[in-house]
Formats: sequence, C-alpha cells, structure tokens
Amino acid sequence: MTSSSPLEHGGVAETDVTPFVSWQRAVRRRERADVPAGETGFWASFFAGTRALATFDEPRALELLLQAEVDCPDDLAVRAALNESLGEARFLLNDYALAAAHFRSAQQVWRELPQPLWDAEVRGWLGACLVQQGEYRDGFEQLQSAIDDLTQLGNPGRAARALNYLAIVYEELGDLAKARLTYTRALIAAGEDGDRDMEGRVLANHGEAHVIAGDVAAGLLLLERAVEVLRSIQAHWHYGWCQLAIGRVLLQQGGEARARAQYEAALEAVERGHSPRARVEVYAGMGELHSRCGRHDEARVWLDRALELARRLNIRREVFKTHRLYAEARKRARDFEGALHHHEQFHEVRAEVFDQVARQRIETLRAELELERVKQARELERVRNEELTARYAELEAQANTLTHLSQRDGLTGLFNRRHFDEVLPVELARARSFGQRLSVVLLDIDHFKRINDGFSHLTGDAVLKQVAAVLQRELRTSDLAARYGGEELVLVLPHTSLDGARIAAEKVRAAIAGAAWSQLGPGLKVTASLGVAEARADDTVLTLVRRADQALYAAKQAGRDRVRAA
Ligand code: GH3
Ligand code: MG
Ligand code: MG
Repeated sequence: MTSSSPLEHGGVAETDVTPFVSWQRAVRRRERADVPAGETGFWASFFAGTRALATFDEPRALELLLQAEVDCPDDLAVRAALNESLGEARFLLNDYALAAAHFRSAQQVWRELPQPLWDAEVRGWLGACLVQQGEYRDGFEQLQSAIDDLTQLGNPGRAARALNYLAIVYEELGDLAKARLTYTRALIAAGEDGDRDMEGRVLANHGEAHVIAGDVAAGLLLLERAVEVLRSIQAHWHYGWCQLAIGRVLLQQGGEARARAQYEAALEAVERGHSPRARVEVYAGMGELHSRCGRHDEARVWLDRALELARRLNIRREVFKTHRLYAEARKRARDFEGALHHHEQFHEVRAEVFDQVARQRIETLRAELELERVKQARELERVRNEELTARYAELEAQANTLTHLSQRDGLTGLFNRRHFDEVLPVELARARSFGQRLSVVLLDIDHFKRINDGFSHLTGDAVLKQVAAVLQRELRTSDLAARYGGEELVLVLPHTSLDGARIAAEKVRAAIAGAAWSQLGPGLKVTASLGVAEARADDTVLTLVRRADQALYAAKQAGRDRVRAA
C-alpha cells in the first residue's frame, strides 16, 4: 500500500482512488489488516476508521470517519470512498436512513466516473438498508440488479451481501424454499470472496431459517458453524445473536442449564458489541429465560430494559415481540392483570406492523411479478412460443390473486377493514340512486376477553375463524362480510330492509350460539351480539354505521347473545 498510497496524490483533483478502494475492500474482507504508516490528517483518520470497521469497533469508526469528513480533500472520488465507509458505520450502528444517504451519494459518483463494479457493490448495501427499513419493494429491485451486474461483471463472489438480504426478503415473504436456496448462493459467494464476516452472518441467518422451518438439527449445525466463524473474527454482536438463537433452541428442548450458559454468553457478547437491535433481542431473551425458571422479578427487569430500548429506538417489531414475551411471563407469575395489559399492547402494535408488512409483502410480490413480466415481455418478442404465452397467463392469474389478497383479512379470510371502507360508500350511493334498500349489521363477540384469558389467544383466534366460517355459510353471495376490527365484524346487506336484516342477523346469532364450540376447548361457549340498521335517505356512511353501533350497544346492555335494531 505504501508505494501506491493515495496520499501521494492527495489534494490533486480526480485522485486515482483505485488503490485505496481496493485496500478498503480487502480490509473489510480481512485479507489484510495493515494501515499505511506515516499518514496524517485526512488519510490517517480515513484508514484508521475503515480499519475500525473491520474490527467491529463501530462507534470508534464513526468518530474517526467523521473526523476525516472534516478534512476531506475536494475530490469527488475520495469523498465517495469516504461515504462508503461512513455508510457502513451508520449501517452497523442501525441508523439505516443515514446509511442509505451516504451510499446514495457514493453511488452517484461511481456511476458518473463510471465505475460499474463499485456502483453494483454499493447498490448491494443500499438494498440492505432498504430491507432493514422494511422497504421491500425498492430493496428487492436494488438487490436483484446488484446481483445481476456483479455476475455479469464476472464478480459473483461480491454479491454475497446482496444475496443475504435477498434471502431475508424471501423469508419475509414466507417463501422458505427460495430463501434457503438464496442463502446457499450467498454462502458460496462469501466463500469465494473470502469474506468471513459475511459467511458467518449468512450461516447464522440460514441456521435460524432452518429452525423456524422445523428442521432443528440442521439449523443447530449451521448456527454452531456460524458461532465458530464469528468468534474467530471477534464479530461480537453477530456472535451474541447466534448464541441467543442456539440458547432458544436448547430452552425449547428443556435443557435449561445449557440454555442459560448460551444466553449469558450472548449477553456478554452484545454488551461488548454496538448493535442496539441485537441488545433488545438478548435482553428480552434473558427475561424469557428467567420467567421460565420462575424468577419473575428478574424477568421483569430484563423485559423492561428490552421494552425501553426498543421503544426508544422505535423498532416496533421488537416492541410487540417483547410485549408478547412479557404477557407470557406475567401469566406465569399469575399476574393476570399485567398479562392482559401486555396482551393488549402486543395486539395493538402487532396489528399496526402487520397491516404494514402485509401491504409490503404484497408490494414485493408485485415487484417480483413486474420484473418477471418485463423479462417475459422481452422473451415474448423474441420467441413467440406457446409455452411462454401460457406462463404469461399464469402470471396474470397470480396478479389477480394478489388483488384478492390485498382485500382480505389474514386471520379470518373475510374482507378487511380497508376494503369495507372502500365498498360501503359505493354501495350506499348505488342503493340511493337506484332506490334500493340497504342494511348494515355490526357483530361483536361476547366476553371475548374471557375466551382469550380462560383458554388462550390461539383459541380466541380459532373462534374468530369459526365465526367467520358461520357467516360465509349463512349469508347470501351478494352480502359482504368484513372484519371491522379486533373481534368485531360487519355485514353489508344490499337489497335488504330492516326486517330482512333482522332475520339474517338472528340466523347468524343462532348459528353461532348453536355451533359445536367444545371441540375447540372443553366447556367453551361462544355467543355474539348484533346491531342492525337500515340506510335512510339522509344517511352518510358515518351515521349509518353509528346507528348499527348504537343498536349493538343496546344488544349488549340487554344481556348479550341477541339482535337489536335501530
Ligand atoms: P363484550 O361482550 O363487552 O364485547 O366483552 P369483550 O370481552 O368482548 O370486550 P372487548 O370488546 O372490549 O374486548 C375485545 C378483546 O378482543 C380485546 C382483545 O384483546 C381481543 N382481541 C382483539 N383482536 C383479537 C385477535 O385477533 N385475536 C384474539 N385472540 N383476540 C383479539
Ligand atoms: Mg366483545
Ligand atoms: Mg369489541
């Protein structure tokens, strides 16, 4: 490095940064660890900061790189290289929005120069940022195009990071087969590239994916390999995260003492590392461990720490996961009020996140589909053969399925609230302009909290599904049933007067009360209250639903398990 140190060209416009960028990447892959001696000012902080990244001292790296930024020579290429290291430091400290900004500005320079290889590599980072922020659609596109370009440029090994994040996207999509295949490709790429850090991370993710899919033995093997790799390069928090994953498996298998050793190793590792996200997971894990061992006070301390940190960082997935663990822990401690509180919090935050994830999932599928469509369209032009036309029709059908999915509630299969909000105004306007009648019924399951608490949330979910099935059976095809929220459902009955709606509601009520509930749990009984309202000439969506709600309230007041009309 010393002979070709960029310092020799320092200050000159359009510095040849090639040797420096090569050094930067070689250090990150741990092929070399030297920092050129004798450098001062910008280059000294630059080299030392990048080197700190390779040794997982992210806060120190950020400090040095910010120092370098102050002294940065007025040279686009040098600044782009600095931006890459800054982006990496921010990324590793979980500040994904800022990281993306750094990568974007580096990317712009590499494009203009042009430096297609570096451009593609930075795109891999950018895709990773987007995935971490839950922006799966854009993330997917960046990752896919980075992989394509790196492969075309003859550097498939450099695609390891992009492949790792692509696999994570597939996992989020629930496509475990594709996720595993992609992790395998990532592993091969990391091996080819000699990138031990990437290899360890991919092994860990791959292992966890196996465990989730129920292939525990293979999962453990992969996790243990990951631990070895990550320990050898002293990647603290990744290493800690792996220990936690292994500990979870051991705890589930009943090996409490061994699990505890793993959890403690995990804790020590994440405390030494600098990833707040990993810390939240391990704190929550400690809480679960203590709770399962009957140490309820200690459990609370850890869970409070996890919640506090997750909230402060606004990592909502960790917030609701922690509430769920907390609720279970409180139940074990026989503090049912506390359990209820955390169950409610869990449901609330989860519903928010899942509504978002469901949309993102659909968006990602669409993105994938569109990409495929573009490819197919090109192919169609070239070879107009029947097979491709059939495949195209299949994709069209998939697109229709996606539309269907976006209108449905995941648990019950009924229409979702969003669809109901779209449909009711249309139905109301239609009824009005054609002089037809229209009624709305609100249904709320009675004492649902008692079902959740007395049986379990899973039983509660199963009850919701069954009630939905009853509705599908009892209603006409022209009727619409949607999940209004929680355990409240809503029916839209076109061409139906108040009397007709009352009869339909009574049929539904009787079918719910008379269903064979004890199959879901010994002694389980389920009833529902229903409120009916018919649209009047001056009704808006709001006043109509409000009247149905008032009728529902009256049904509850009158003792539940009944129908009332407004
Ligand atoms: P009431 O007869 O007065 O309606 O009593 P209730 O217990 O049903 O009262 P409320 O409507 O206040 O409680 C609804 C509960 O339903 C609270 C919430 O924890 C639970 N819940 C909401 N959504 C879901 C879900 O998707 N699954 C499960 N298992 N429970 C849910
Ligand atoms: Mg209720
Ligand atoms: Mg309710």
